[in-house]
Amino acid sequence: MPEEIVVEVKDLVKAYGDVKAVRGISFNIAKGEVFGMLGPNGAGKSTTVEIIEGLRRADSGSATVLGINISKDTRTVKERIGVQSQSPALFPDLQVKEIINFFRSLYKKSVPTSQIIDLASLQESRDILFRNLSGGQQQRLSVALAFVNDPEIIVLDEPTTGLDPQARRAMWEVIETFRSSGKTVLLTTHYMEEAQRLCARIAIMDYGKII
Ligand code: ADP
Repeated sequence: MPEEIVVEVKDLVKAYGDVKAVRGISFNIAKGEVFGMLGPNGAGKSTTVEIIEGLRRADSGSATVLGINISKDTRTVKERIGVQSQSPALFPDLQVKEIINFFRSLYKKSVPTSQIIDLASLQESRDILFRNLSGGQQQRLSVALAFVNDPEIIVLDEPTTGLDPQARRAMWEVIETFRSSGKTVLLTTHYMEEAQRLCARIAIMDYGKII
């Protein structure tokens, strides 16, 4: 059976004023694959994933997710993908479980709150205010929230930056479990070891190009 392509990026270009963040990149991601984007800060990784997520618009080129051109139907794609942002702005004065319930309420379909708490390993902290969590706990919650709508694809932007080695390995297991259920992962990282452990294929990005 031919592999099913779930993300198709073609000749993508994005500039911010004079800064050419993404300078014409193309790649495909197959269903059930963990695809990594590796590269230094400023390479254009976040810009690329934010276009795929429908958060930013490309200047030219296209991103097709689950067969849908993201610039034509962002809404449908957003229902079916899970997104973790690099610097999440979550509500400081809400409890962990309240934040999860808020995110669940944004989607037509969602998984139980307890499942997200388990993914984030925050069983003891469900009633804690977000601002009172440690940096690592906040990071784990922001990644776990990517799973809230039971997505077919998750897009994770530096999911383990700032985590201690034990929490990093736990996060890798979460990602591997997701993948082993036949789902697809796009992640950015600047850890070689993480790319090596998790990814079937990687694109190395620098200065807005895949090198
Ligand atoms: P990476 O995720 O690889 O660190 P980014 O996509 O965040 O790369 O950034 C690529 C380039 O675009 C960098 O030079 C960065 O400073 C610039 N950039 C990113 N976002 C913006 C923005 N909103 N406005 C202006 N420049 C930006």
